[in-house]
Amino acid sequence: MPLRLRSNNYSSAVGVVYHDSNGAYHEVYVKANGEVILCAGALGSPQLLLLSGLGPTSYLSSMNIPVVLDHPFIGQFMADPPRTGVNIVNPYASTDVGLGVVGITDSGPYIESPSIPPNSTPISFLPFMGSVPPLNTSVEIISGKVSRPLSTGWLHLKSASNVTVSPAVRFNYYNRTEDIHQCSNAVEVIRKMLASPALNEYKFNDPDGGQSFRFIGPALPQNPSDFETITSFCHKSLATFWHMHGGCLPTKVVDSGLKVIGVDSLRVVDASTFFNSPGTNPQATTMMLGRYIGMKILEERAAY
Ligand SMILES: Cc1cc2nc3c(=O)[nH]c(=O)nc-3n(C[C@H](O)[C@H](O)[C@H](O)COP(=O)(O)OP(=O)(O)OC[C@H]3O[C@@H](n4cnc5c(N)ncnc54)[C@H](O)[C@@H]3O)c2cc1C
Repeated sequence: MPLRLRSNNYSSAVGVVYHDSNGAYHEVYVKANGEVILCAGALGSPQLLLLSGLGPTSYLSSMNIPVVLDHPFIGQFMADPPRTGVNIVNPYASTDVGLGVVGITDSGPYIESPSIPPNSTPISFLPFMGSVPPLNTSVEIISGKVSRPLSTGWLHLKSASNVTVSPAVRFNYYNRTEDIHQCSNAVEVIRKMLASPALNEYKFNDPDGGQSFRFIGPALPQNPSDFETITSFCHKSLATFWHMHGGCLPTKVVDSGLKVIGVDSLRVVDASTFFNSPGTNPQATTMMLGRYIGMKILEERAAY
């Protein structure tokens, strides 16, 4: 679905081309005072803008994409809050699956603990489960999400002509030491949780008469003051909650009304415009952003 852009003395979105679910090709044009509102998400919106000729000139030229307007920050500042933690095998098959409660800590990370039901096939929630056969008990994930990571990366096209080829994206997880510190804070919170009597029922009986957790993937590092080991654990346990954002940031790509800077009749309204993933989980805020901008558009239209 690339956009149709006109570029003379000024640039303007004039329409959209797309294929429907039967593969038929369509062109749709903007009517008077209308606009194109792009809501393809943090990966889709920067991809479509780049394919439409908005982006860094040198990059677009290297991809043989005709440049409509130089936009150096489209596809830049891509971020995804890293997830760290442990996955413990539940001795019992829990029916209480999913994710119901979130903890907001003073030290930064959000604690979220989804349950994976028995006999699940390996899923991306558990990156380590690829080599583990389905279990007949549930797996409890105790994870910390680094809130507001400072590490950012980029999005590049893998095809300059085929919109169905997903772009390449690099979030540069843990490039910034501050993010590692927050991961370390999450590790400490999880350490305290594992030591609490409330979690004793998740321990297995050991042959020596003791009790211990069974982990899938790395166990928590033993020494909390060994920064190198903590850093290594953060990288080894790295996973995601899929709260990616960035790529079309305000003041860099869009203005305060989320209109693309330097282009008429074109707005981006989705998570690509977030500096940070809002709240513990972003979906509700993303929907409210849609309503907020929708109301703004209605007010603007009422004025003419
Ligand atoms: C597996 C997963 C689980 C999640 N769980 C939660 C959760 O429990 N709670 C929560 O708050 N958040 C959750 N999130 C995050 C949340 O879904 C996103 O933050 C939110 O949907 C972002 O909204 P958006 O409008 O930016 O993009 P999206 O909701 O991704 O919408 C973008 C839309 O554009 C379409 N699109 C993209 N490219 C094109 C194209 N070229 N042509 C036509 N259409 C296109 C896509 O198909 C999609 O429908 C989850 C995300 C994932 C991936």
